[in-house]
Amino acid sequence: MIDWKAFAQELGDIPFSDDPVRVKRRSRDFYWYSPVLKPQLDNVSGDLLVTPRSEEEVIRVASLCAKYRAPITIRGGGTGNYGQAMPLKGGVVLDITELNRVIRLEKGVLRVQAGAKMNAIDAETRPQGWELRMYPSTKRTATIGGFVCGGSGGIGSVGYGGLRETGNVIAARVVTVELEPRIIELRGEECNKINRTFGTTGIVTELEIPMAPALPWRDLVISFAEFGKAAEFGQALASASGVEKKLVSVIDWPLPRYFQPLQKALIPEQPIVIAMVAESGMQALHDLCRQFGGTIVFEQDPVEAEATPATTPLFEYTWNHTTLQILKADRSVTYLQSMFPPGRNLELVQAMRERFGDEVIMHMEFLLFDGKLTNSALQVVRYTTEERLNEIMDEHEANGIFIANPHVYTLEDGSRHKRVPGDQMGFKAEVDPFGLLNPGKMRSYVPVA
Ligand code: FAD
Repeated sequence: MIDWKAFAQELGDIPFSDDPVRVKRRSRDFYWYSPVLKPQLDNVSGDLLVTPRSEEEVIRVASLCAKYRAPITIRGGGTGNYGQAMPLKGGVVLDITELNRVIRLEKGVLRVQAGAKMNAIDAETRPQGWELRMYPSTKRTATIGGFVCGGSGGIGSVGYGGLRETGNVIAARVVTVELEPRIIELRGEECNKINRTFGTTGIVTELEIPMAPALPWRDLVISFAEFGKAAEFGQALASASGVEKKLVSVIDWPLPRYFQPLQKALIPEQPIVIAMVAESGMQALHDLCRQFGGTIVFEQDPVEAEATPATTPLFEYTWNHTTLQILKADRSVTYLQSMFPPGRNLELVQAMRERFGDEVIMHMEFLLFDGKLTNSALQVVRYTTEERLNEIMDEHEANGIFIANPHVYTLEDGSRHKRVPGDQMGFKAEVDPFGLLNPGKMRSYVPVA
Protein backbone atom coordinates (compact mmCIF):
# COMPACT_ATOMS: atom_id res chain seq x y z
CA MET A 1 0.00 0.00 0.00
CA ILE A 2 1.30 3.42 -0.91
CA ASP A 3 1.20 6.06 1.84
CA TRP A 4 -0.38 8.84 -0.27
CA LYS A 5 -0.33 11.34 2.59
CA ALA A 6 3.43 10.98 2.90
CA PHE A 7 3.77 11.09 -0.90
CA ALA A 8 1.72 14.30 -1.08
CA GLN A 9 3.81 15.87 1.68
CA GLU A 10 6.99 15.17 -0.25
CA LEU A 11 5.50 16.92 -3.31
CA GLY A 12 6.11 20.20 -1.47
CA ASP A 13 4.78 23.11 -3.53
CA ILE A 14 3.94 21.05 -6.67
CA PRO A 15 0.17 21.44 -7.21
CA PHE A 16 -1.89 18.29 -6.59
CA SER A 17 -5.41 17.17 -5.78
CA ASP A 18 -6.59 14.14 -3.84
CA ASP A 19 -10.28 15.02 -4.21
CA PRO A 20 -11.66 11.65 -5.43
CA VAL A 21 -14.27 13.26 -7.73
CA ARG A 22 -11.71 15.50 -9.41
CA VAL A 23 -9.12 12.75 -9.67
CA LYS A 24 -11.65 10.34 -11.20
CA ARG A 25 -12.81 12.96 -13.69
CA ARG A 26 -9.20 13.41 -14.84
CA SER A 27 -8.73 9.64 -15.04
CA ARG A 28 -11.09 9.21 -18.02
CA ASP A 29 -10.83 9.54 -21.75
CA PHE A 30 -13.12 8.57 -24.61
CA TYR A 31 -13.05 4.83 -23.75
CA TRP A 32 -16.86 4.88 -23.59
CA TYR A 33 -17.01 4.99 -27.40
CA SER A 34 -16.54 1.24 -27.07
CA PRO A 35 -19.43 -0.71 -25.53
CA VAL A 36 -16.87 -3.46 -24.88
CA LEU A 37 -14.44 -1.25 -22.92
CA LYS A 38 -17.06 0.80 -21.09
CA PRO A 39 -17.93 -1.79 -18.42
CA GLN A 40 -14.26 -2.82 -18.10
CA LEU A 41 -12.97 0.71 -17.44
CA ASP A 42 -15.90 2.57 -15.85
CA ASN A 43 -14.43 2.31 -12.33
CA VAL A 44 -10.81 3.13 -13.15
CA SER A 45 -9.38 6.03 -11.16
CA GLY A 46 -6.01 7.37 -10.08
CA ASP A 47 -5.19 8.23 -6.45
CA LEU A 48 -3.58 11.64 -6.89
CA LEU A 49 -3.75 14.26 -9.64
CA VAL A 50 -0.39 16.06 -9.89
CA THR A 51 0.15 19.11 -12.09
CA PRO A 52 3.84 19.99 -12.50
CA ARG A 53 4.62 23.44 -13.90
CA SER A 54 8.13 22.78 -15.19
CA GLU A 55 10.41 19.97 -16.28
CA GLU A 56 12.21 20.25 -12.95
CA GLU A 57 8.89 19.50 -11.17
CA VAL A 58 8.25 16.57 -13.57
CA ILE A 59 11.63 15.15 -12.51
CA ARG A 60 10.75 15.51 -8.82
CA VAL A 61 7.43 13.67 -9.34
CA ALA A 62 9.13 10.91 -11.39
CA SER A 63 11.69 10.39 -8.63
CA LEU A 64 8.98 10.21 -5.95
CA CYS A 65 7.02 7.67 -8.03
CA ALA A 66 10.17 5.54 -8.27
CA LYS A 67 10.75 5.86 -4.50
CA TYR A 68 7.16 4.88 -3.59
CA ARG A 69 6.82 2.44 -6.55
CA ALA A 70 3.73 4.46 -7.49
CA PRO A 71 2.17 3.98 -10.95
CA ILE A 72 2.25 7.13 -13.08
CA THR A 73 -0.06 7.83 -16.01
CA ILE A 74 0.53 10.93 -18.11
CA ARG A 75 -2.44 12.98 -19.22
CA GLY A 76 -2.60 15.66 -21.90
CA GLY A 77 -6.05 16.72 -23.13
CA GLY A 78 -7.56 13.33 -22.17
CA THR A 79 -9.13 12.93 -25.63
CA GLY A 80 -7.56 9.56 -26.38
CA ASN A 81 -9.70 6.57 -27.15
CA TYR A 82 -9.57 3.10 -25.62
CA GLY A 83 -8.45 4.17 -22.15
CA GLN A 84 -4.98 5.26 -23.28
CA ALA A 85 -4.67 7.80 -20.47
CA MET A 86 -6.62 5.80 -17.88
CA PRO A 87 -4.65 4.57 -14.85
CA LEU A 88 -5.58 0.87 -14.71
CA LYS A 89 -3.56 0.40 -11.52
CA GLY A 90 -4.38 3.77 -9.90
CA GLY A 91 -1.48 5.94 -8.73
CA VAL A 92 -0.48 9.37 -9.99
CA VAL A 93 -2.29 11.01 -12.89
CA LEU A 94 0.34 13.42 -14.22
CA ASP A 95 -1.40 16.39 -15.84
CA ILE A 96 1.19 17.73 -18.28
CA THR A 97 -0.84 20.68 -19.61
CA GLU A 98 1.06 23.35 -17.64
CA LEU A 99 4.13 22.58 -19.75
CA ASN A 100 2.69 24.42 -22.71
CA ARG A 101 5.29 26.87 -23.99
CA VAL A 102 6.53 27.29 -27.56
CA ILE A 103 10.30 27.21 -27.08
CA ARG A 104 11.44 28.25 -30.54
CA LEU A 105 10.41 28.32 -34.18
CA GLU A 106 13.28 28.48 -36.62
CA LYS A 107 13.39 27.68 -40.33
CA GLY A 108 10.15 25.68 -40.17
CA VAL A 109 11.18 23.60 -37.13
CA LEU A 110 9.14 24.00 -33.95
CA ARG A 111 10.45 23.16 -30.49
CA VAL A 112 7.53 23.05 -28.07
CA GLN A 113 6.67 21.75 -24.61
CA ALA A 114 4.62 18.56 -24.78
CA GLY A 115 1.56 19.89 -22.95
CA ALA A 116 0.83 22.66 -25.47
CA LYS A 117 -2.60 22.46 -27.10
CA MET A 118 -2.46 22.18 -30.85
CA ASN A 119 -4.85 25.01 -31.63
CA ALA A 120 -2.78 27.26 -29.32
CA ILE A 121 0.38 26.27 -31.21
CA ASP A 122 -1.18 27.22 -34.56
CA ALA A 123 -2.55 30.47 -33.14
CA GLU A 124 0.99 31.41 -32.05
CA THR A 125 2.89 30.25 -35.15
CA ARG A 126 0.54 31.25 -37.99
CA PRO A 127 1.28 35.00 -37.57
CA GLN A 128 4.96 34.04 -38.04
CA GLY A 129 4.08 32.30 -41.32
CA TRP A 130 4.12 28.66 -40.15
CA GLU A 131 1.40 26.17 -39.23
CA LEU A 132 1.12 22.57 -38.01
CA ARG A 133 1.45 20.07 -40.82
CA MET A 134 -0.88 17.64 -39.15
CA TYR A 135 -3.33 17.43 -36.25
CA PRO A 136 -6.17 15.25 -34.99
CA SER A 137 -9.79 16.36 -35.23
CA THR A 138 -9.50 17.02 -31.47
CA LYS A 139 -7.07 19.88 -32.21
CA ARG A 140 -9.04 22.31 -30.06
CA THR A 141 -8.53 20.16 -26.91
CA ALA A 142 -5.62 17.79 -27.49
CA THR A 143 -1.94 18.39 -26.70
CA ILE A 144 0.98 17.84 -29.05
CA GLY A 145 2.48 15.30 -26.59
CA GLY A 146 -0.80 13.36 -26.43
CA PHE A 147 -0.97 13.35 -30.23
CA VAL A 148 2.56 11.97 -30.68
CA CYS A 149 2.29 9.46 -27.79
CA GLY A 150 -1.30 8.37 -28.40
CA GLY A 151 -2.53 9.48 -31.83
CA SER A 152 -1.77 8.35 -35.34
CA GLY A 153 -2.60 11.07 -37.86
CA GLY A 154 -5.42 13.26 -39.04
CA ILE A 155 -5.94 16.53 -40.83
CA GLY A 156 -2.79 16.91 -42.95
CA SER A 157 -2.13 13.17 -43.34
CA VAL A 158 -3.42 13.33 -46.92
CA GLY A 159 -0.19 15.18 -47.71
CA TYR A 160 2.24 14.01 -45.01
CA GLY A 161 1.04 10.53 -43.99
CA GLY A 162 0.60 9.55 -40.37
CA LEU A 163 2.84 10.36 -37.41
CA ARG A 164 4.68 7.06 -37.94
CA GLU A 165 6.07 8.18 -41.34
CA THR A 166 9.75 9.12 -41.42
CA GLY A 167 10.31 12.83 -40.77
CA ASN A 168 7.09 13.67 -38.96
CA VAL A 169 8.75 13.85 -35.52
CA ILE A 170 12.24 15.36 -35.37
CA ALA A 171 13.15 15.10 -31.69
CA ALA A 172 11.71 14.29 -28.27
CA ARG A 173 13.01 15.05 -24.79
CA VAL A 174 12.15 12.32 -22.32
CA VAL A 175 12.29 12.11 -18.50
CA THR A 176 12.90 8.60 -17.09
CA VAL A 177 11.12 7.18 -14.04
CA GLU A 178 13.98 6.23 -11.72
CA LEU A 179 15.17 7.24 -8.26
CA GLU A 180 17.40 9.70 -10.04
CA PRO A 181 15.53 10.48 -13.26
CA ARG A 182 17.58 11.18 -16.37
CA ILE A 183 16.80 13.30 -19.39
CA ILE A 184 17.19 11.62 -22.78
CA GLU A 185 17.06 13.50 -26.09
CA LEU A 186 15.82 11.27 -28.91
CA ARG A 187 16.43 12.39 -32.48
CA GLY A 188 15.09 11.26 -35.84
CA GLU A 189 14.07 7.62 -36.00
CA GLU A 190 14.91 7.20 -32.29
CA CYS A 191 11.63 9.06 -31.67
CA ASN A 192 9.82 5.85 -32.65
CA LYS A 193 10.57 4.77 -29.09
CA ILE A 194 7.94 7.16 -27.75
CA ASN A 195 5.68 7.45 -30.83
CA ARG A 196 2.23 6.00 -30.00
CA THR A 197 3.36 4.05 -26.95
CA PHE A 198 0.58 5.44 -24.73
CA GLY A 199 3.00 7.08 -22.30
CA THR A 200 4.63 3.76 -21.34
CA THR A 201 8.14 4.70 -22.52
CA GLY A 202 9.01 7.89 -20.67
CA ILE A 203 7.55 11.28 -19.86
CA VAL A 204 7.90 13.48 -22.93
CA THR A 205 8.51 17.08 -21.90
CA GLU A 206 9.50 18.62 -25.26
CA LEU A 207 9.03 17.82 -28.93
CA GLU A 208 10.54 19.09 -32.13
CA ILE A 209 8.29 18.85 -35.17
CA PRO A 210 8.38 20.04 -38.78
CA MET A 211 5.97 22.84 -39.71
CA ALA A 212 4.44 23.88 -43.04
CA PRO A 213 4.15 27.39 -44.52
CA ALA A 214 0.83 28.86 -43.34
CA LEU A 215 -1.74 29.03 -46.15
CA PRO A 216 -5.19 30.54 -46.55
CA TRP A 217 -7.64 27.58 -46.46
CA ARG A 218 -11.23 26.88 -47.45
CA ASP A 219 -13.52 24.44 -45.65
CA LEU A 220 -15.99 22.80 -48.06
CA VAL A 221 -18.92 20.40 -48.04
CA ILE A 222 -19.55 18.84 -51.45
CA SER A 223 -22.71 16.82 -52.05
CA PHE A 224 -23.04 13.85 -54.45
CA ALA A 225 -26.04 11.93 -55.78
CA GLU A 226 -24.27 8.62 -55.17
CA PHE A 227 -21.57 7.28 -52.88
CA GLY A 228 -19.41 5.83 -55.70
CA LYS A 229 -18.97 9.27 -57.28
CA ALA A 230 -18.18 10.86 -53.91
CA ALA A 231 -15.48 8.24 -53.29
CA GLU A 232 -13.98 8.64 -56.78
CA PHE A 233 -13.99 12.41 -56.40
CA GLY A 234 -12.28 12.05 -53.02
CA GLN A 235 -9.57 9.86 -54.50
CA ALA A 236 -9.09 12.25 -57.45
CA LEU A 237 -8.81 15.29 -55.17
CA ALA A 238 -6.53 13.50 -52.72
CA SER A 239 -4.18 12.41 -55.50
CA ALA A 240 -4.17 15.77 -57.35
CA SER A 241 -0.55 16.63 -56.61
CA GLY A 242 -0.95 20.24 -57.78
CA VAL A 243 -3.64 20.97 -55.17
CA GLU A 244 -2.63 21.82 -51.59
CA LYS A 245 -5.12 20.13 -49.27
CA LYS A 246 -5.31 19.10 -45.64
CA LEU A 247 -8.43 16.96 -45.56
CA VAL A 248 -10.52 14.78 -47.86
CA SER A 249 -13.22 12.83 -46.04
CA VAL A 250 -16.10 10.87 -47.60
CA ILE A 251 -19.17 10.39 -45.41
CA ASP A 252 -22.04 8.18 -46.47
CA TRP A 253 -25.69 9.03 -45.85
CA PRO A 254 -27.34 8.89 -43.28
CA LEU A 255 -24.34 10.02 -41.17
CA PRO A 256 -24.48 13.69 -42.32
CA ARG A 257 -28.04 13.83 -41.00
CA TYR A 258 -26.50 13.99 -37.51
CA PHE A 259 -24.37 17.08 -38.28
CA GLN A 260 -26.85 19.53 -36.76
CA PRO A 261 -25.33 22.91 -37.71
CA LEU A 262 -25.05 21.83 -41.38
CA GLN A 263 -28.65 20.68 -41.81
CA LYS A 264 -29.85 23.70 -43.77
CA ALA A 265 -27.04 23.31 -46.28
CA LEU A 266 -27.22 19.54 -46.87
CA ILE A 267 -29.18 17.79 -49.62
CA PRO A 268 -31.18 14.98 -47.94
CA GLU A 269 -30.12 11.39 -48.72
CA GLN A 270 -26.85 12.51 -50.35
CA PRO A 271 -23.36 11.38 -49.26
CA ILE A 272 -20.87 14.19 -48.83
CA VAL A 273 -17.18 14.94 -49.13
CA ILE A 274 -15.68 17.29 -46.55
CA ALA A 275 -12.50 18.91 -47.85
CA MET A 276 -10.02 21.48 -46.65
CA VAL A 277 -8.29 22.96 -49.68
CA ALA A 278 -5.91 25.91 -50.06
CA GLU A 279 -7.36 28.98 -51.84
CA SER A 280 -4.87 28.28 -54.65
CA GLY A 281 -6.54 24.89 -55.24
CA MET A 282 -10.09 26.23 -55.62
CA GLN A 283 -10.05 26.37 -59.43
CA ALA A 284 -9.00 22.70 -59.60
CA LEU A 285 -11.62 21.84 -56.99
CA HIS A 286 -14.38 23.40 -59.12
CA ASP A 287 -13.10 21.50 -62.16
CA LEU A 288 -13.19 18.20 -60.22
CA CYS A 289 -16.71 18.96 -58.94
CA ARG A 290 -17.86 19.37 -62.54
CA GLN A 291 -16.13 16.17 -63.61
CA PHE A 292 -17.64 14.00 -60.84
CA GLY A 293 -21.02 15.72 -60.43
CA GLY A 294 -20.41 17.28 -57.02
CA THR A 295 -22.21 20.37 -55.71
CA ILE A 296 -20.55 22.65 -53.17
CA VAL A 297 -23.27 23.20 -50.54
CA PHE A 298 -21.28 24.86 -47.76
CA GLU A 299 -18.08 26.90 -47.52
CA GLN A 300 -16.28 28.71 -44.71
CA ASP A 301 -12.87 29.90 -43.53
CA PRO A 302 -11.65 27.09 -41.26
CA VAL A 303 -9.10 29.22 -39.39
CA GLU A 304 -11.84 31.66 -38.38
CA ALA A 305 -14.23 28.82 -37.51
CA GLU A 306 -11.59 27.21 -35.31
CA ALA A 307 -10.93 30.42 -33.42
CA THR A 308 -14.61 30.99 -32.59
CA PRO A 309 -16.00 28.68 -29.89
CA ALA A 310 -19.55 28.92 -31.28
CA THR A 311 -18.63 27.75 -34.79
CA THR A 312 -17.49 24.32 -35.90
CA PRO A 313 -14.52 23.88 -38.20
CA LEU A 314 -15.49 21.13 -40.65
CA PHE A 315 -12.71 18.83 -39.43
CA GLU A 316 -14.89 18.36 -36.34
CA TYR A 317 -17.22 16.25 -38.50
CA THR A 318 -14.39 14.02 -39.74
CA TRP A 319 -11.93 11.41 -38.43
CA ASN A 320 -13.19 10.21 -35.05
CA HIS A 321 -15.41 13.27 -34.65
CA THR A 322 -17.86 11.64 -37.08
CA THR A 323 -18.49 8.95 -34.45
CA LEU A 324 -18.87 11.60 -31.74
CA GLN A 325 -21.46 13.54 -33.75
CA ILE A 326 -23.56 10.36 -34.12
CA LEU A 327 -23.04 9.30 -30.48
CA LYS A 328 -24.45 12.65 -29.32
CA ALA A 329 -27.84 11.52 -30.67
CA ASP A 330 -27.60 7.74 -30.66
CA ARG A 331 -25.62 5.82 -28.01
CA SER A 332 -26.30 2.46 -29.70
CA VAL A 333 -23.50 2.86 -32.25
CA THR A 334 -19.79 2.25 -32.09
CA TYR A 335 -16.97 2.20 -34.65
CA LEU A 336 -14.16 0.39 -36.47
CA GLN A 337 -10.65 1.62 -37.24
CA SER A 338 -9.46 0.32 -40.58
CA MET A 339 -6.90 0.91 -43.30
CA PHE A 340 -7.63 -0.09 -46.89
CA PRO A 341 -4.76 -1.42 -49.02
CA PRO A 342 -3.52 1.10 -51.63
CA GLY A 343 -4.60 0.26 -55.18
CA ARG A 344 -7.65 -1.80 -54.18
CA ASN A 345 -9.05 0.66 -51.66
CA LEU A 346 -12.13 1.95 -53.51
CA GLU A 347 -13.07 -1.49 -54.77
CA LEU A 348 -12.92 -2.87 -51.21
CA VAL A 349 -14.79 0.12 -49.78
CA GLN A 350 -17.67 -0.62 -52.16
CA ALA A 351 -17.53 -4.35 -51.43
CA MET A 352 -17.77 -3.75 -47.65
CA ARG A 353 -20.60 -1.27 -48.12
CA GLU A 354 -22.57 -3.81 -50.10
CA ARG A 355 -21.72 -6.63 -47.70
CA PHE A 356 -22.77 -4.88 -44.47
CA GLY A 357 -25.44 -2.38 -45.60
CA ASP A 358 -26.88 -0.31 -42.73
CA GLU A 359 -25.00 -2.26 -40.07
CA VAL A 360 -21.61 -0.72 -40.97
CA ILE A 361 -21.88 2.78 -42.43
CA MET A 362 -18.93 4.03 -44.44
CA HIS A 363 -16.92 7.06 -43.42
CA MET A 364 -13.38 7.36 -44.74
CA GLU A 365 -10.39 9.69 -44.91
CA PHE A 366 -7.67 9.75 -47.58
CA LEU A 367 -4.06 9.68 -46.45
CA LEU A 368 -0.58 8.60 -47.45
CA PHE A 369 0.54 5.27 -45.99
CA ASP A 370 4.20 4.35 -46.58
CA GLY A 371 4.13 7.01 -49.30
CA LYS A 372 1.13 5.53 -51.15
CA LEU A 373 -2.28 7.14 -51.34
CA THR A 374 -5.15 5.17 -49.83
CA ASN A 375 -7.97 5.67 -47.35
CA SER A 376 -8.49 4.73 -43.75
CA ALA A 377 -12.02 4.42 -42.42
CA LEU A 378 -13.75 4.84 -39.07
CA GLN A 379 -16.96 3.11 -40.04
CA VAL A 380 -19.95 3.63 -37.77
CA VAL A 381 -21.32 0.28 -36.57
CA ARG A 382 -24.81 -0.43 -35.26
CA TYR A 383 -23.77 -2.43 -32.20
CA THR A 384 -25.51 -5.63 -31.20
CA THR A 385 -23.01 -7.92 -29.43
CA GLU A 386 -19.27 -8.20 -28.91
CA GLU A 387 -19.27 -11.47 -30.89
CA ARG A 388 -20.89 -9.77 -33.86
CA LEU A 389 -18.44 -6.85 -33.63
CA ASN A 390 -15.53 -9.32 -33.71
CA GLU A 391 -17.08 -11.14 -36.69
CA ILE A 392 -17.32 -7.83 -38.58
CA MET A 393 -13.66 -7.01 -37.85
CA ASP A 394 -12.55 -10.56 -38.79
CA GLU A 395 -14.37 -10.35 -42.10
CA HIS A 396 -12.66 -7.06 -42.91
CA GLU A 397 -9.27 -8.60 -42.16
CA ALA A 398 -10.09 -11.67 -44.24
CA ASN A 399 -10.67 -9.28 -47.16
CA GLY A 400 -7.22 -7.71 -46.75
CA ILE A 401 -8.37 -4.61 -44.83
CA PHE A 402 -6.20 -3.88 -41.77
CA ILE A 403 -8.10 -3.45 -38.53
CA ALA A 404 -6.72 -1.61 -35.49
CA ASN A 405 -9.13 -2.91 -32.86
CA PRO A 406 -10.42 0.08 -30.83
CA HIS A 407 -12.22 -2.22 -28.38
CA VAL A 408 -9.11 -3.33 -26.46
CA TYR A 409 -6.78 -1.20 -24.33
CA THR A 410 -3.33 -2.77 -24.70
CA LEU A 411 -0.77 -1.71 -27.27
CA GLU A 412 -0.17 -5.28 -28.39
CA ASP A 413 -3.82 -6.13 -29.06
CA GLY A 414 -4.96 -2.82 -30.48
CA SER A 415 -3.13 -1.81 -33.55
CA ARG A 416 -1.16 -3.59 -36.16
CA HIS A 417 -0.95 -1.01 -38.91
CA LYS A 418 -0.71 1.85 -36.39
CA ARG A 419 2.25 0.34 -34.52
CA VAL A 420 5.44 2.27 -35.02
CA PRO A 421 8.56 0.19 -35.81
CA GLY A 422 11.42 0.08 -33.28
CA ASP A 423 12.45 -1.57 -30.03
CA GLN A 424 9.96 0.16 -27.76
CA MET A 425 10.02 -2.55 -25.12
CA GLY A 426 13.83 -2.39 -24.93
CA PHE A 427 13.60 1.38 -24.45
CA LYS A 428 11.00 0.92 -21.73
CA ALA A 429 13.43 -1.26 -19.78
CA GLU A 430 15.90 1.63 -19.94
CA VAL A 431 13.52 4.42 -18.90
CA ASP A 432 11.00 2.63 -16.68
CA PRO A 433 12.81 -0.22 -14.93
CA PHE A 434 10.11 -0.58 -12.22
CA GLY A 435 7.28 -0.73 -14.80
CA LEU A 436 5.45 2.27 -13.32
CA LEU A 437 4.48 4.12 -16.51
CA ASN A 438 0.84 3.49 -17.44
CA PRO A 439 1.03 -0.14 -16.23
CA GLY A 440 -1.10 -2.69 -18.07
CA LYS A 441 -0.95 -0.95 -21.46
CA MET A 442 2.26 -2.61 -22.73
CA ARG A 443 1.19 -5.99 -21.43
CA SER A 444 4.25 -7.97 -22.54
CA TYR A 445 6.62 -5.82 -20.48
CA VAL A 446 8.17 -7.45 -17.43
CA PRO A 447 9.86 -4.92 -15.07
CA VAL A 448 13.62 -5.35 -14.99
CA ALA A 449 14.20 -3.91 -11.49
P1 FAD B 1 -4.29 12.10 -23.98
O1 FAD B 1 -5.59 11.43 -24.24
O2 FAD B 1 -4.19 12.90 -22.75
O3 FAD B 1 -3.12 11.01 -23.99
C1 FAD B 1 -2.98 10.08 -25.03
C2 FAD B 1 -1.88 9.08 -24.67
O4 FAD B 1 -0.62 9.73 -24.69
C3 FAD B 1 -2.02 8.52 -23.26
O5 FAD B 1 -1.60 7.18 -23.25
C4 FAD B 1 -1.07 9.39 -22.42
O6 FAD B 1 -0.60 8.68 -21.28
C5 FAD B 1 0.03 9.67 -23.42
N1 FAD B 1 0.68 10.97 -23.20
C6 FAD B 1 0.09 12.20 -23.20
N2 FAD B 1 1.02 13.16 -23.02
C7 FAD B 1 2.21 12.52 -22.88
C8 FAD B 1 3.54 12.97 -22.64
N3 FAD B 1 3.83 14.27 -22.51
N4 FAD B 1 4.53 12.04 -22.52
C9 FAD B 1 4.25 10.72 -22.66
N5 FAD B 1 3.00 10.24 -22.88
C10 FAD B 1 1.99 11.13 -22.99
N6 FAD B 1 -6.51 10.70 -32.97
C11 FAD B 1 -5.85 10.87 -34.13
O7 FAD B 1 -4.69 10.45 -34.25
N7 FAD B 1 -6.44 11.53 -35.17
C12 FAD B 1 -7.70 12.03 -35.09
O8 FAD B 1 -8.17 12.68 -36.01
C13 FAD B 1 -8.42 11.82 -33.89
N8 FAD B 1 -9.71 12.26 -33.76
C14 FAD B 1 -10.37 12.06 -32.57
C15 FAD B 1 -11.68 12.54 -32.42
C16 FAD B 1 -12.38 12.34 -31.24
C17 FAD B 1 -13.76 12.90 -31.07
C18 FAD B 1 -11.76 11.63 -30.17
C19 FAD B 1 -12.46 11.41 -28.88
C20 FAD B 1 -10.46 11.17 -30.31
C21 FAD B 1 -9.75 11.39 -31.50
N9 FAD B 1 -8.42 10.97 -31.64
C22 FAD B 1 -7.76 11.15 -32.83
C23 FAD B 1 -7.69 10.48 -30.48
C24 FAD B 1 -7.04 11.67 -29.66
O9 FAD B 1 -7.90 12.76 -29.64
C25 FAD B 1 -5.73 12.13 -30.25
O10 FAD B 1 -4.83 11.07 -30.37
C26 FAD B 1 -5.10 13.27 -29.43
O11 FAD B 1 -3.97 13.73 -30.10
C27 FAD B 1 -4.70 12.86 -28.03
O12 FAD B 1 -4.16 14.01 -27.39
P2 FAD B 1 -4.45 14.28 -25.85
O13 FAD B 1 -3.63 15.45 -25.44
O14 FAD B 1 -5.89 14.37 -25.58
O15 FAD B 1 -3.83 12.94 -25.24
